[in-house]
Amino acid sequence: MADWLEALDRLAHDRAKAGLTRQLRPRAAGDSVVDLAGNDYLGLSDHPRVIGAARQALEAYGLGATGSRLVRGSTGAHTDLEDSLAGWLGADAALVFSSGYLANLAVVRAAGAVCDLVVSDAYNHASLIDGCKISGLPVRVVPHNDPAAVAAVLAAHPGRAAVVTESVFSVDGDLAPLAALHEITSAHGALLIVDDAHALGLLGPSGEGGVAAAGLAGRPDVIVTATLSKALGGAGGVVAGPGQFIRHLVDTGRSFIYDTAPPPAVVAGVLAAVEVARAAGDRRAVLFRRGALLAATLRGAGFPTRDPAAGVLSVPAPGPEPAVAWAADCRDRGVAVGCFRPPSTPDGSSRLRLTVNAGVPEQDFARAMTVILECAP
Ligand code: PMP
Repeated sequence: MADWLEALDRLAHDRAKAGLTRQLRPRAAGDSVVDLAGNDYLGLSDHPRVIGAARQALEAYGLGATGSRLVRGSTGAHTDLEDSLAGWLGADAALVFSSGYLANLAVVRAAGAVCDLVVSDAYNHASLIDGCKISGLPVRVVPHNDPAAVAAVLAAHPGRAAVVTESVFSVDGDLAPLAALHEITSAHGALLIVDDAHALGLLGPSGEGGVAAAGLAGRPDVIVTATLSKALGGAGGVVAGPGQFIRHLVDTGRSFIYDTAPPPAVVAGVLAAVEVARAAGDRRAVLFRRGALLAATLRGAGFPTRDPAAGVLSVPAPGPEPAVAWAADCRDRGVAVGCFRPPSTPDGSSRLRLTVNAGVPEQDFARAMTVILECAP
């Protein structure tokens, strides 16, 4: 066997020994598994209005976008979605990408054009970390949710910095102190970049997200990014902010310019999902009630679990193998839960990650909670 394949085998063997092998498990359409693993927080991925809009666009435009946004890939659905998202988020302008990952790469890289330092929360998502790397800027990683640490870095830095954080963190589900962070960034003339992936559709009176809920919508020094794949049930990413920033992304954002546009059917489906989400106060109420109940039930069984800020929470496991076994036992009993291990966890610990889906029937949700406790290590 070639040397490099042997090297890969050795690395795979080391990962297996450390309990870090990952499995792809295709799900069957319409299976009866109760979903506490996905991010379809409002249950919109199969909402009839969403499916109807996507189907119409599929018939009208065909399957793919056929080109990048600047070539042939932009349709009326893309620009309608951008207008709709900008209006919802209270931003000057918005730009749609084919994933949240690509949106984050573009945003943090663009900060490199106007900033000379990037300050990044230690628990930030991989896409933000990769964005920091390609920004070409020096990166200061600060302890998780620690505005004083951010203030200290900015106070010691004479130039302009970009501070990058999530709003609701993707594994533990806790909320960044956005108002405090903005006070600090605005006092130092810094940019605040917030990934609202796990709050869009959930926080704020009409689901406009964590940034808007913190009173920061439309601020010229705040850039919002989000995926369209979670509460909106579709796929794609969005960046919302001042028109000048969006213009810069259109002209220079490599993951925008050189990427095939998201499929029109998906874009049209997401546009319908935004309309449903804005009026989905009832679904949000179900989500928050279930999240609090799930956390309280786990705490009652002795697990140190915080109330989720939105729809995601995590439960510590004694190690990677028990975490994998816990998730597998749940799956065998018809309940899908997330299992996070290093290197996907920022602090090197292993845990189950549970998400609340407001679309799951009440009795299934109750059964899922029982199964999780019965399978606990
Ligand atoms: N940011 C956060 C916080 C996420 O959780 C995710 C999804 N895993 C992304 C960005 C990437 O979004 P997408 O899946 O649309 O690429």
